[in-house]
Amino acid sequence: MPGVYLSYPFCAQKCTYCNFASGVFPRELEARYLDALAGEISAHTWRWQPQTIYLGGGTPSSMDTTALAGMLARIPGRPWREATLEAAPGGITAEKARAWVDLGIDRVSLGVQSFVETEIRRTGRKHTAAVVEEEIALLRTAGIRAINIDLIAGLSAQTETSWRESLDWVERLAPEHVSVYMLEVDEDSRLGKEMLLGGVRYGAMDTPSEDATADFYEIAVERLAALGIPRYEISNFARPGYESRHNLKYWTLEHYVGFGADAHSFDGGKRWANPESVEEYVSRPLPYGRGSVSGAHDDERLFLGLRLAAGIRPTADEWQRFAAPIRRFVDDGLLETADGALRLTDRGVLLSNEVFQEFLTA
Ligand code: SF4
Repeated sequence: MPGVYLSYPFCAQKCTYCNFASGVFPRELEARYLDALAGEISAHTWRWQPQTIYLGGGTPSSMDTTALAGMLARIPGRPWREATLEAAPGGITAEKARAWVDLGIDRVSLGVQSFVETEIRRTGRKHTAAVVEEEIALLRTAGIRAINIDLIAGLSAQTETSWRESLDWVERLAPEHVSVYMLEVDEDSRLGKEMLLGGVRYGAMDTPSEDATADFYEIAVERLAALGIPRYEISNFARPGYESRHNLKYWTLEHYVGFGADAHSFDGGKRWANPESVEEYVSRPLPYGRGSVSGAHDDERLFLGLRLAAGIRPTADEWQRFAAPIRRFVDDGLLETADGALRLTDRGVLLSNEVFQEFLTA
């Protein structure tokens, strides 16, 4: 099920925790970006019919609907089996929602992150839980088939009580899909940098410990399962039949092509990526992606597949090649085997980076 990813890296504000190559850019750059994006899609030679579309960013929900229609008209395969648009709560109207449905969008992913006001404000976002509730009602009335809610465990000022409050809102709003991410602390976000420096800005001193964040994640796993939204991938939870068809292809090594700044592509043999910076993307001649090409690694199949709750069925060769790390992780209680499948245990999920690293270097 090959898919298409479209990147729209423009946002109303730069969230404190965000480590993507997205942000606030001049309007003039946005116009040039849309031209470049349309040019890149038009120049593409389609060797297969896309079955899924994913508009990410950034905040593609803020894209003018006429511009969005122009981009989607360039992509074959409509009606797609799934077409997702990432949206920031606070800017969704009934007209927009109807226009999205008319354009073939059937899934909206809402970057909620938290339903608790103190936490939301510290991220730099402006929505409230009530706004999210109203906008989900608008999306459902317009005919959106599936809604995803993104949550982040580990935000500044988050406590077990406030985390449970966000999960109560999930229960009340009954989305088909939930993504739960643990806050990433790195140099690429303002909050991460401040935490690494031991500073106080962006509420850095009030972020929960790593252990507390892991506990919040486990609370979510348990609560969402009880709500009929089990985990199917480390960060993703869905009611049966509502797993993200587009995102699944990243873990099962299916083909996809990405357009726009920082978009990645994979054709089964090699991977390539467009320039990360918006300025570089708009000023580079077509084809944008040829700057960074790499071959797919043999071991990718194994560690990408392990992200899935169902695990992976290693080939005879893989069982043999990775026999030593598999045995060690099974002994340590991080991996389990059953009926020819290999998968992470609940504890293994929390230490998954350690496990993946081992397979990459084995
Ligand atoms: S988190 Fe989302 S909305 Fe916030 S800056 Fe990053 S991409 Fe934009």
